[in-house]
Amino acid sequence: MRAWEKNIRKVVPYTPGEQPKDTDIIKLNTNENPYPPSPKVLNAQTQLERLRLYPDAKVSDLVNELAKYHGLKDDQVFVGVGSDDVLAMTFLTFFNSEKPILFPDITYSFYDVWADLFRIPYETKALNEQFEIIASDYYGENGGVIFPNPNAPTGLVVTLDFIKDVLDHNQDVIVVIDEAYIDFGGESARALLDAYDNLLVVRTFSKSRSMAGLRVGYAMGNADLIKALNDVKYSYNSYTMNYPSIVLGVESVKDEAYFKETVQKVVETREWFEKELTRLGFTYPKSSSNFVFATHSRVSAKEIFEKTKEAKIFVRYFDKPRIDNYLRITIGTMEEMQTLVAKLEEIVL
Ligand SMILES: *Cc1c(COP(=O)(O)O)cnc(C)c1O
Repeated sequence: MRAWEKNIRKVVPYTPGEQPKDTDIIKLNTNENPYPPSPKVLNAQTQLERLRLYPDAKVSDLVNELAKYHGLKDDQVFVGVGSDDVLAMTFLTFFNSEKPILFPDITYSFYDVWADLFRIPYETKALNEQFEIIASDYYGENGGVIFPNPNAPTGLVVTLDFIKDVLDHNQDVIVVIDEAYIDFGGESARALLDAYDNLLVVRTFSKSRSMAGLRVGYAMGNADLIKALNDVKYSYNSYTMNYPSIVLGVESVKDEAYFKETVQKVVETREWFEKELTRLGFTYPKSSSNFVFATHSRVSAKEIFEKTKEAKIFVRYFDKPRIDNYLRITIGTMEEMQTLVAKLEEIVL
């Protein structure tokens, strides 16, 4: 080993889902939205000559649009480069205790990566056999709590009463609810922001707003939390949000009708697809997101994953304890899901 190697920060990175170059693939592996962004986004006028200038470091236009949308004040919203950036900032800003932060054993697989990267101690709490989060697991002393609602990759949602219960038992630490999928089902913890000053709610434009490629995410919380996030951001990179992202992000938030319509289509397709899965002998936790986490009684998830892939239909398979016989299948268009169901019939019937 060369002497300088001991000074290198070593991390096992997060593995994102495959992004194939082929365009004739039915891509149901990374929870993208099958519909294009709002026409307001597609037709937006950006003045690209403005790229000469630094963007607005405060991201005022987008912060203001989001604050209006959620009935909050501007100083209650923080915007970042996808919610991954917002979540990384969140770990760096709020998880600085000697005590471990807590999150579920089966959850977004980036959490342990950030914890390792930032040297944050953590403990995972096992979901029960039905893949449910158990509130009392989060009652003990800890350095902070984070979980997605709905959870990923299970798709299961918890109620606001459940989140209140966790908050009531964790008044001395920051509790983060990652709402990447909340638009597809469940009640937002945003409603609890007035009552709990230690709550941070994180959202993304990548799933329900069809803009994974733009990289926009945000956090909502009380003004002190948002200031703390901004202080860390300005100590790291003041200009995280580029000018086109700000303009296009604003246009997306302005088009509520299109947003509702596309979310509704995904939800309807999900309901149809779940019935088809049942018919084919799959079981799954009832999904409140834009994916279904399914297992088959007879054919292994790995085999189904490989066979659908050969047929140019990509779904997500996690070779991890407890979930290595499950597939996470993103909800695409009705036509895409019909093609998948036809293929699944060949494989499992
Ligand atoms: C997709 C996802 C994110 C990250 O989304 P960005 O594209 O970085 O905004 C965060 N949390 C969960 C649970 C996700 O599934």
